[in-house]
Amino acid sequence: MDKIDLRCLNRQELTQYITELGEPAYRAKQLFRQIHKHGAADFQQMSDLPEALRVALAECATVALPRVIDRQVSAAEDTVKLLLELADGERIEMVLMLYERWQAHNRATCCVSSQSGCAMNCRFCATALHDHFRNLSAGEIVAQVQIADRLAYQMGFAGITNIVYMGMGEPLANLAAVKKSLELLNDEEGMNIGMRRITISTCGLVPKIREMAGWGYQIGLAVSLHAADPELRRQLMPGASRYSLEELIRACQDYREQTGRRVTAEYALFAGINDHPSDALKLANLLTETDILVNIIPANPLPEADIEPPDEAVIEAFCQLLQEKGLKVQLRHKRGADIQAACGQLRRRQTPSGQQD
Ligand code: SF4
Repeated sequence: MDKIDLRCLNRQELTQYITELGEPAYRAKQLFRQIHKHGAADFQQMSDLPEALRVALAECATVALPRVIDRQVSAAEDTVKLLLELADGERIEMVLMLYERWQAHNRATCCVSSQSGCAMNCRFCATALHDHFRNLSAGEIVAQVQIADRLAYQMGFAGITNIVYMGMGEPLANLAAVKKSLELLNDEEGMNIGMRRITISTCGLVPKIREMAGWGYQIGLAVSLHAADPELRRQLMPGASRYSLEELIRACQDYREQTGRRVTAEYALFAGINDHPSDALKLANLLTETDILVNIIPANPLPEADIEPPDEAVIEAFCQLLQEKGLKVQLRHKRGADIQAACGQLRRRQTPSGQQD
């Protein structure tokens, strides 16, 4: 019989589980704090629980964290990428980004995966090159944050302050588990991470954006655009292009109205593909009349798909043109390019046999 992963259960579910074992309800509160506040990975670490209960739980349940099987640290020591192995052998990536004295605070951001691959098939993405994958559970998403939290402490930071769902997978294709993970991470008896400190990135699944807006949570939304021309976007992002750009932008504006959170459009620049001044003009036309913030990201090289970032001068000219057209633009600096920080690259390098998959 498979053991139940208690990291997946919210307080109410944990209370039901514990009382069905014949234990008093307050044990569930202790257990929840051990798992979600202290990041316990073993029942034997839970010294406030009686020994008999710890033994009984170990027989039918688990709180084990994924195994770290590879680790890369950037030369600047501000980005760490981990390859994690889940209980069934699936492998996922998690990235920790450290920002010293960001707006007077130190900030530690964890970039989590929501699937162990992706069906969206974006041409520039190493994750899309994996041929098998599954959705992650809420507990497997939370576990990534807990591993990053511990790592951040070890590196002299006060734990995780921000979370971005921008790792492997399309979060909105696994929305139920993503929603539950948000609630677990936000729980005041657990890590208590504010919804405003969490951003979800999507390739643009319009009905799911609308569903998210209805939750009433103030989560940041980042939409991967990468092209403002429908045909080019269809070539670059075939899975995302079933919704028109107009529908997508309308959903972003409605999200803004319903949640009060400004939406970010991510635009990765691929040399010779979407970096021409005419591409910038199309983007400016698409986003004019909106207050969507544009994040320009020089692409991470992906030789398998002939993807390279443009030269500095092209990047600057692209940003300048957007600004002249009245868009709010941010140039995001590449982090961890020396450690294959783009999602899917480390797993691709490291398969169980040590060969590329
Ligand atoms: S970029 Fe995101 S949505 Fe596209 S294939 Fe990669 S993980 Fe999936």
